Amino acid sequence: MSDDVIITADALRALTYEIIRHGGSEAAECQIVSDHLVDANLSGHDSHGVGIVPTYVINLQKNMLRPNTGVTNVRDDGAFLQFDGGKGYGQRVAGEAMSAAIERCRETGIVVATLKNAHHIGRVGAYGEMATAAGMISLHFVNVTDHFTIVAPHRGTDSRFGTNPVCIAMPTGNPAEPIILDMATSKVAMGKLRVADNAGRRLPDGIVIDADGAPSNDPGVMFREPRGALLPFAEHKGYGLALMAELLSGTLSGGGTIQPANERLDGIINTMTVIVLDPARLGDVGWILGEVDAMAAFAKASPPTDPDLPVLVPGEPERLSRAERNANGVPLDRESWQQLLSAGETLGLGRAEALAIAGVD
Ligand code: NAD
Repeated sequence: MSDDVIITADALRALTYEIIRHGGSEAAECQIVSDHLVDANLSGHDSHGVGIVPTYVINLQKNMLRPNTGVTNVRDDGAFLQFDGGKGYGQRVAGEAMSAAIERCRETGIVVATLKNAHHIGRVGAYGEMATAAGMISLHFVNVTDHFTIVAPHRGTDSRFGTNPVCIAMPTGNPAEPIILDMATSKVAMGKLRVADNAGRRLPDGIVIDADGAPSNDPGVMFREPRGALLPFAEHKGYGLALMAELLSGTLSGGGTIQPANERLDGIINTMTVIVLDPARLGDVGWILGEVDAMAAFAKASPPTDPDLPVLVPGEPERLSRAERNANGVPLDRESWQQLLSAGETLGLGRAEALAIAGVD
């Protein structure tokens, strides 16, 4: 039987809100960050959920995460927008940059927007969902800087990249069911190894190599010195995409890549380049969405190899997880739960108060 703590999304949101508030954030920022993190848990991405709060608290204390910092527009040139996140909460500054890009796209039909200096922006799909909610398409390329490297290039034996996520978001005929491809370019997101390590789980073959470059099943190789490395997905193809995400985001945003001549203070800074596109500028939206729906239905109609595992489209696993976890609660492994409570204590939120907020004994 699972030893997880099961907690409702509302209770987890309330607890996370309070921890962020104890970190000095004003109400609106607490709301944005706690909503985003709990939605990541609901979506099944525990790697980008509340389990990352302890890291945020460490970065707050090192002044590498600056509460109450909004995004600054540093270039406003028609379809080209550039933003500086000022090391503010990524969920806030990326959301603000994305809102501005969507707004501008209504005029220009296409926008290239960049963001630099954002503290960890979390689940990139959240920004793709903002685009599709506005009836737009978006493509996101993200790198991770200011941090030690964790992902090896194809054929390499040590790390040279972050997990560099890429997201492509496409509206469908049903506004509640966009197609959202949102993925790390590593075999799995780093946070999933943290969750596995906390839970004492071994990894399947082919996900990490140890510090000597040899295959390993131990997630701990990523958390002990000398560190091992995560492998890119799909060998040379994933490596190629990771490199392109690094270059498109790091260079065009002005935030820089993870190459070693650039400063690394051991924070988590994301840069992002996003292209927002209004499909209405290229064709009849009704026809485009009808074609998207027909193609998605065609893909999903392929008879599954396992009848219990039907073909899905990207974005669907997250919707299924949300439905299940909204109904049954969010499971958190005990270690992540303890780390979350300790993070609150570090900021002055007593354990008894935290447990009362969460409604957990
Ligand atoms: P994942 O492997 O769980 O999913 C990747 C994509 O595949 C998703 O779009 C999902 O909908 C789709 N998918 C999953 N199963 C599917 C199926 N059976 N059929 C069709 N599509 C399917 O995700 P991941 O690569 O582990 O990334 C997790 C999260 O981590 C993402 O939200 C990403 O943005 C985030 N991330 C953020 C950073 C950062 O620095 N901010 C870095 C890395 C990852």
